[in-house]
Amino acid sequence: MKIKRLAHIGVGVKDLKEVAGVYTDFLTLAMTSTDSVGELLTGFIPVGETNIELVQSTTPEGVMAKFVEKKGEGIHHLAFEVDDIDAALAELKAKGVPLTSDEPRPGAHGARVLFLHPKATHGVLIELCQYPEGHH
Ligand code: ZN
Repeated sequence: MKIKRLAHIGVGVKDLKEVAGVYTDFLTLAMTSTDSVGELLTGFIPVGETNIELVQSTTPEGVMAKFVEKKGEGIHHLAFEVDDIDAALAELKAKGVPLTSDEPRPGAHGARVLFLHPKATHGVLIELCQYPEGHH
């Protein structure tokens, strides 16, 4: 597997617009895009080669809503960009690494994503993602 960069740091929030202000007003960064994926609303704030990804659940029953309810708002996951997510998946399966799904799933901005199970990564939820050609 080839990790290209830390693509984003996922942050669980209650209200994306309100939390975006922390980064745009306090830090003068820009939220350049938002996207909705299933029950999730995401906002991307580029910081050099990486991004802050704000993630808000649009339903109280959603996994992100439950995370925020249980642990409060804050850092939820680290996402590493790989060049070939199918190869990365095969490699992790061969190593017996527990994953949260058997196949890559659709993520924001046309990415294909998969998550290592946090029980195997000492509490840090790790996402691997592959973006379509030409996307940052
Ligand atoms: Zn993510």
